[in-house]
Amino acid sequence: MAEQYADIIIDISHEKVDRPFQYRIPAELAGAVYPGVRVHVPFGRGNQDKVGYVVDLSGQPDYPVEKIKDITAVDNRGITAESSQIQIAYWLKRQYGSTTIAALKTVLPAKQKLKQLERKKILRCVEGEVLQKAVLQCEQKHQTARARVLRAIAAEEILPYELIRQKLNVSSATLTALEKQGYLKIETEAYYRNPVKCADREEKKVAPSDVQQRIIERVLADYQAGHPGTYLVHGVTGSGKTEVYLGIIEQMIAMGRQAIVLIPEIALTYQTLLRFYKRFGDRVSVINSSLSMGEKYDQVRRAQAGELDVIIGPRSALFTPFPNLGIIIVDEEHEGSYKSESMPKYHARETAVQIASMQHASVVLGSATPSMEAYYRAKQGEYQLFEMTGRHGGSMLPQVYTIDLREELKQGNRSVFSRKLKELMAGRLKAGEQTMLFLNRRGYAGFVSCRACGHVMKCPHCDVSLSEHRGNMLLCHYCGYEEVRRTNCPACGSKYLMGFKAGTEQIEEALHREFPEARVLRMDADTTKTKESYEKILSAFADEKADILVGTQMIVKGHDFPNVTLVGVLAADLSLNQNDYRAGERTFQLLTQAAGRAGRGEKPGEVVIQTYQPEHYSIVHAARQDYQGFYEEEITYRDFMSYPPVSHMLAVLVTSREQEQGEKLVRHMAEEIECRRKQEWQKLQVIGPTLASISKINDLYRHVFYVKHRDYQVLVEIKDILERYCKTEESKNQTVQYDFDPMNTY
Ligand code: ADP
Ligand code: ZN
Ligand code: ZN
Repeated sequence: MAEQYADIIIDISHEKVDRPFQYRIPAELAGAVYPGVRVHVPFGRGNQDKVGYVVDLSGQPDYPVEKIKDITAVDNRGITAESSQIQIAYWLKRQYGSTTIAALKTVLPAKQKLKQLERKKILRCVEGEVLQKAVLQCEQKHQTARARVLRAIAAEEILPYELIRQKLNVSSATLTALEKQGYLKIETEAYYRNPVKCADREEKKVAPSDVQQRIIERVLADYQAGHPGTYLVHGVTGSGKTEVYLGIIEQMIAMGRQAIVLIPEIALTYQTLLRFYKRFGDRVSVINSSLSMGEKYDQVRRAQAGELDVIIGPRSALFTPFPNLGIIIVDEEHEGSYKSESMPKYHARETAVQIASMQHASVVLGSATPSMEAYYRAKQGEYQLFEMTGRHGGSMLPQVYTIDLREELKQGNRSVFSRKLKELMAGRLKAGEQTMLFLNRRGYAGFVSCRACGHVMKCPHCDVSLSEHRGNMLLCHYCGYEEVRRTNCPACGSKYLMGFKAGTEQIEEALHREFPEARVLRMDADTTKTKESYEKILSAFADEKADILVGTQMIVKGHDFPNVTLVGVLAADLSLNQNDYRAGERTFQLLTQAAGRAGRGEKPGEVVIQTYQPEHYSIVHAARQDYQGFYEEEITYRDFMSYPPVSHMLAVLVTSREQEQGEKLVRHMAEEIECRRKQEWQKLQVIGPTLASISKINDLYRHVFYVKHRDYQVLVEIKDILERYCKTEESKNQTVQYDFDPMNTY
């Protein structure tokens, strides 16, 4: 048998994860050495005995063999928490392609020195009328932040300080001021035991409906029978999915198990988090991007020490090292943010299924518009499917109108608003109801070009046009480059440089022209540079400080605005024109979600979808809220074109400072695969290599090719071949990235 080698990291508990060292696996230890196992090795000049973790195996030495030492022994003190984390990292590296270190860093928390963290809670100090009066006073004085806090504590006697600070977007100064006024008290303690009052927790518990009960029972019965599974709950927003999650988690906790709940960051709202706090008290914790490294590490430590039952957070919360994990929930599983954008480019849904299978836990996926992946697997019988139809409490699905914009133009309407939308908006303004206008891509017409010669102003560092913004600036959305808008064309000198305003700004201006009396808020990447500004706009709209909210896709997620009875989608097909196999799916999801924003309260909602392609199946099915119909057409297309989820696809992206070097490397890599294809994998398809559709970002050239095959493992082998190839090739100054079943084409 050929020699086997192991990459070993000495003492993984250090501040930083070290680089791995290669050792030989002696024949008598073969089979006992695998990723995650602790071993004794001779280390350094003096061959001091050290304990290390195996992080990778290989059949090939990276150094001259005579320099490689032998592993002394396997440490048999059992599997540690680190062992299973290393196993997950190893799986990520194998499955998605990355360096060992990058995979370990994804899984292991960055160790931080901890100061004793303070946990604060807010206690209500006044009741009833006094409190109501205080709310009114604040509202009259336009102290909206204070009013928000007072309303929140009117509903709950005790609340976590952080929840108020972050989710209600209130400054600590505001809270101190309210404390001085005697309305509330801020208490600090090492650990709070009850962030939300107990009595409250009991009384608000709802009895699950039949459908909910059936799902909860099925999941738990399988779990208790020793066959934890993966379940997909398909139900519109408001159909009661969160209640199902809460019910399952409750019983898991009763069995001494812990739960990981993934929710896209943008949907982690005050209301949602409060529901978890109320049910599970202080043994719930939230991870989000506004936590410092120290705070994140503290969560991990608490989880490991058994001080937590539930962790809620985006993608990265998946790697919380619980001692006895019972369930992973992935809410809104179709969300693009579940896929990592840096190496390893893992998908949280698939990784959740893997982690659950390693730790004998169940997985529940939930969505109103399941991803093609999840629904396909459910249809194949890999996941168990549950359909929850209708909203809980029976509020009605909205009436949808599809408007053909070509027809509008024929009738002489050149406005960005169709006649139907204009008429309905005017009605809403009269009735004092709110409207959301949604543009599904940012800055779609933000470029500046010369009317005389057609020259388009481009970013000098990226292959994209610059967008025009307020203050006479041109901005690159990819690298942040900015320049002052010129008066003359740099190519021909003419002074007819014309700007097409960025989409949302243009609509805001059109609204001011059409409805001068309307109060308009705009929300897009430019108005929400900080997290705070994002929450601020949403709270202002929730407080009915505006009649119309204009925005990009970020406005269609999560938040509940009961007074919104009209949603307009201004250019539904813009996302269809992207040259991308997921464009139809994305369009369907966005339209369905946008439509779901209308009529969340008592009043029925209306939706206007404006489009140039009213006959496109994504639009037709979204208008009918017909998921099944959409799925059938889309899966036929994916199958026919050998796209995921029916087939699998690996994108190989090479970025390089010199265009020629990148081109050469990507060509050699594709040739390497092409010649193997002839021998082993006739069914393999190789597409490219070509320049990526954005051929340069940040001065780095981008070349790409794709490989498709029905068997995912074949693509993993191809990735391995390419990784080996790139070790020998002159690939300095070039980065190779692998992306399995990519969310976007490059
Ligand atoms: P989803 O997560 O699918 O959006 P939720 O679980 O948030 O749905 O439920 C929507 C609303 O219906 C919530 O206000 C919730 O409290 C309520 N609800 C859900 N299930 C029940 C039930 N069995 N009894 C009473 N109210 C329920
Ligand atoms: Zn740029
Ligand atoms: Zn010109």
